[in-house]
Amino acid sequence: MDLLVHLCCARCSRWTRYARDTANLMQMRDFIVEVEHDPPSDERALATVEVAEGRRLMRMRFHALFDELTLEEQRYAVVHELVHPLLHPLTETVRSAAADEFGGAALRMFLGVVSRDVERTVDTLANVIAPSLPLPGS
Ligand SMILES: [Zn+2]
Ligand SMILES: [Zn+2]
Repeated sequence: MDLLVHLCCARCSRWTRYARDTANLMQMRDFIVEVEHDPPSDERALATVEVAEGRRLMRMRFHALFDELTLEEQRYAVVHELVHPLLHPLTETVRSAAADEFGGAALRMFLGVVSRDVERTVDTLANVIAPSLPLPGS
């Protein structure tokens, strides 16, 4: 039983609980999962995750329309956001190695390619993992 603290509303409580349960089923018990009340700063994002540097702490945000998605879409999105922190150490290593070698436009272009590849990999993994996990509210 997880002790849920700092929960501002029923919605944050609900998504924190679902993300926590899902993380546990993904063998990510050592990660702290927090849900922030504010929506993602990028309005096009349905959900986002921010990983605290050097710590096993992630903060998720959900778009105001997230609850309107189908349960399958919600599950997929939560799993997608949970996969991101697993790749975080790798992408940070690549980022810092690249920044040591080159900068400016070349670095921005390279990091853009890395971000796109990370999204594809996260999508692939989330598509494999999500169907085996419970839907929200079940
Ligand atoms: Zn809230
Ligand atoms: Zn993503």
